[in-house]
Amino acid sequence: MTNAPSALDIARKLVQCPSVTPEEGGALAYLDTLLSPVGFQVHRPVFSESGTPDVENLFAKLSHGKGPHLVFAGHTDVVPTGDEDLWTLPPFSGEVKEGMLYGRGTADMKGGIAAFSAAVLQYLAEHGEPEGSISFLITGDEEGPATNGTVKLLQWAADKGEHFSDAIVGEPTNPDAMGDAIKIGRRGSLSGTITVTGHQGHVAYPHLAHNPVTIMAQIVSKISAAVLDHGTDHFQPSNLEFISIDVGNEAWNLIPKKATARFNVRHNDLWDAQKLSDFVMKNAKDCIPSSDFDVTLGLIPSNADAFLTRSDTLIQSFSESVKKITGRTPEHSTDGGTSDARFIKNYCPVIEFGLVGKTMHMIDEHIAVDDLKTLTDIYYDFLTRYFPPKG
Ligand SMILES: [Zn+2]
Repeated sequence: MTNAPSALDIARKLVQCPSVTPEEGGALAYLDTLLSPVGFQVHRPVFSESGTPDVENLFAKLSHGKGPHLVFAGHTDVVPTGDEDLWTLPPFSGEVKEGMLYGRGTADMKGGIAAFSAAVLQYLAEHGEPEGSISFLITGDEEGPATNGTVKLLQWAADKGEHFSDAIVGEPTNPDAMGDAIKIGRRGSLSGTITVTGHQGHVAYPHLAHNPVTIMAQIVSKISAAVLDHGTDHFQPSNLEFISIDVGNEAWNLIPKKATARFNVRHNDLWDAQKLSDFVMKNAKDCIPSSDFDVTLGLIPSNADAFLTRSDTLIQSFSESVKKITGRTPEHSTDGGTSDARFIKNYCPVIEFGLVGKTMHMIDEHIAVDDLKTLTDIYYDFLTRYFPPKG
């Protein structure tokens, strides 16, 4: 038996902190009061960068002996509420109605932090300190510019000599029900602009001009029709979408000099920026009929490479915990957008598993209280596999 606070208690307290990015809102201070008394060394570094607001973050570590170092990563900042009058219950009240906990950040992702905290407290109360280290890496800048958050916190920890063995990100990864999916990687994202330059002229004298609009239309058709790949065991097929074609020509009697097209690619681990750049340029150049036209490509610098976690031990043992608690075998997924896992993967193997994400960022964001309990049980079960209790 244990007197540790439940995940619901913790989640309600966190939701009651109005921590809309970049406000700390009391959320990190609350985690500090939760973790310090049970032996965690808590640091709350504030990071700055000109042009963005200062943001407070939290790193808390409990260390005992020489075992592995498990890090739980997440964020306490939340997106704005929108019109509060549209909410069934006030967004920062943390009230429960018909088995649902309502509030901004319940799903994304204060509920996940609450579940992991409760699981750790339960483990400590029942088994004492594990052989190894447990850390919380919690940022206040995930939903905002994300410059003063996870990237800097990871670097800050590395500068202090921290080495992580494995990481769990508690983002809401389940589309519909607990046990749907563990994320074991993410697709990459890359954006770019193609520019075709021709020769400006009068529409009545097209032979004296070189129209880049015609060429751009061909480039867009050719690249849109091309198949990048057919997907892999773990990834969907890569996809390139043109999102805009811009000429900016106001006149009716003018052939413009230049046309641009912007695109975004969501790609699997068969591709990187160089390969995608070569692919786009080759297809674009195939559409250029003569040296009267020029084509160039500009890529937006990206920190979102595709990645796949290859630690079978981490993935298998977490999957077993999900199966034991939910009775379901989770899909090993890589779909959806990017997340902070793309930064953590540079330091250690990382998986993502949290609550059901259906209502995140919406009016009336909520989670089932039962799901919060299920997630806590999964995290707890995983902790007992990762750090087998003594005796
Ligand atoms: Zn989130």
